[in-house]
Amino acid sequence: MTVIVPPADVRSRVVELRREIHRHPELGFEETRTQALVERELDELGIEHRRVAKTGVVGVVRGAKPGRVAGLRADMDALPITEKSGEPFSSEVPGKMHACGHDAHTAMLLGAARVLQGMRDELHGSVVLLFQPAEEGPGGAEPMIAQGALDDPKVEAVAMLHVDPRLAPGQIGVTPGPVNASADEFFVTVEGRGGHGAYPHTAADAIPAAAAIVTALQNIASRETDPLKSVVVTIGTINGGYRNNVIADEVKMTGTLRAHDPEIRNGLEARARRIIEGVAAAYNVKATLQVNYGYPPVVNNVQLAQNFRDYMKEHSGLRVESPPPTMGAEDFAYFAQRVPGVHVRLGIRSDKAGSIYPGHSAQFRIDEEALPVGVQTLVAFARAVGNGEVAFE
Ligand SMILES: [Zn+2]
Ligand SMILES: [Zn+2]
Repeated sequence: MTVIVPPADVRSRVVELRREIHRHPELGFEETRTQALVERELDELGIEHRRVAKTGVVGVVRGAKPGRVAGLRADMDALPITEKSGEPFSSEVPGKMHACGHDAHTAMLLGAARVLQGMRDELHGSVVLLFQPAEEGPGGAEPMIAQGALDDPKVEAVAMLHVDPRLAPGQIGVTPGPVNASADEFFVTVEGRGGHGAYPHTAADAIPAAAAIVTALQNIASRETDPLKSVVVTIGTINGGYRNNVIADEVKMTGTLRAHDPEIRNGLEARARRIIEGVAAAYNVKATLQVNYGYPPVVNNVQLAQNFRDYMKEHSGLRVESPPPTMGAEDFAYFAQRVPGVHVRLGIRSDKAGSIYPGHSAQFRIDEEALPVGVQTLVAFARAVGNGEVAFE
């Protein structure tokens, strides 16, 4: 089967939709304008759809021929950033910006929907279009799944695209196994006893204890984890004290714990607690740890990812890479826990378009040459899953 390259009218429509969404960024679970745009486009295409997870949309393209059911997921939300990209279609909403490319993800899925709906007489199986809110937090994937987004029709394999400034337009990345990390936030409170800065022996200083905890926590990554496995322990904030000559009675810290391996992730809290409480005891203060569990790691189904990668290498004419995983997080993890899933990286980097900045930067840009590549990739996944050319258990 040949891979369909989107025709010119689809290409221009995707650019138009992407710019329209880009001008009007919305934060998680506030994507009402984007939701309406998605619904309007699906209505125009004659694609059935329903609402889920407040601002999410599930559409279904039903192929005329029998086959498996593929899910395609795009996130829709923006970030609380003031745009400084200089693009002529920059955000019209102060303090909000599509700085992670979710505008492009949504537009490309609408482009894929257009192509797939146009060929449904020859299409094997069905394609479930998953327009997801709130990827940047608090998380739209879980409520979508809870409200049956994967159940009717039953999705058998799911793919997503994420723009990636490590790769150029015309390149995609498919890596089997873990590709994104878990992201769990933690809170540490160190409680000492305050006093006069001149008489430290009459107090229990929370500040040196906190400093020792910060240093000791790094042992989780450097000494307690297999050096060939990935772990991040980052302290992002540290606050305590009153003034130069007062001994602090309390220090509060927050941070993020990340890992690729679910087993390593599950052990991080206990390791952190042992270190925090042990160091606190050594410094004659008390310390407590609280962990709020966030997104699990994204683990690409090995068989599905390998077969899709091989399929694209053989049929697409694109440069198919296997970039290393990152420690960033993605709530696509929940979809990929439910059914075999693959997170596909889409190259967007070019000097010509100035798309050289990382995601979440106020200068973030996308080379729009990448958009038809993304449409092509989504369509190929849906067709090849549907007709069994990309096999998986
Ligand atoms: Zn992001
Ligand atoms: Zn993102």
